[in-house]
Amino acid sequence: MKIYQIIEGRHDHHKDENNLTVLPGHTGSVTLVQSEDKNILIDTGARGTWEETTKRLKQIGIDVLDIDIVLLTHLHLDHSYHVALFPQAQLLAWSHDWKSGETKCLTNDLNAGPLEIPIKGISAIRTPGHDECMNSFIIEGAEGIHLINNELIHLEGKNVIVSGDAINQVVIESNLEKIPYAYDAELYRASAQKILDQKPDFIIPGHGPIIFL
Ligand SMILES: [Zn+2]
Ligand SMILES: [Zn+2]
Repeated sequence: MKIYQIIEGRHDHHKDENNLTVLPGHTGSVTLVQSEDKNILIDTGARGTWEETTKRLKQIGIDVLDIDIVLLTHLHLDHSYHVALFPQAQLLAWSHDWKSGETKCLTNDLNAGPLEIPIKGISAIRTPGHDECMNSFIIEGAEGIHLINNELIHLEGKNVIVSGDAINQVVIESNLEKIPYAYDAELYRASAQKILDQKPDFIIPGHGPIIFL
């Protein structure tokens, strides 16, 4: 199993040579996991990142039609904008059912079941707080993470969590004191702690560089 950084999540505003903001300055991370001959994409980036995503996939030798499964950490558009552009992919996300008014995730119960993922070595945990439907993904047994700059982090049995917006560097450094946007700060804290309790060696956050623990 291999992990590829497709987009590093960011919330800054790059300027081009004419001092114009390069869009999108804000996007969630996009991550590819190759396992059991399947290509699994975790999150699909913000509006304006499509070219960036397809260029990187091409570099790895993958076409959008080769994506078998799309996993979404949550439905905020900076993470899910291009979800419909992988026509062969099975979509696994936890969402509100607007039609019936029911949702599969309207619960503050941290123990309510997470997404079930049919790939060995990838599992989900529920991490609400920033968003009610948040799932974070645990990846076990990957050989390495291929970074955007083509550097390789060897994992050798180390574990990775793709967290979405359930945790970030600031939250960890502040010992869970500084909480970013959350509809429920206490729930956010509990979810962040739940991620740390898994003892990941690396976290790929929704925004910002990979976190080494
Ligand atoms: Zn985000
Ligand atoms: Zn979000």
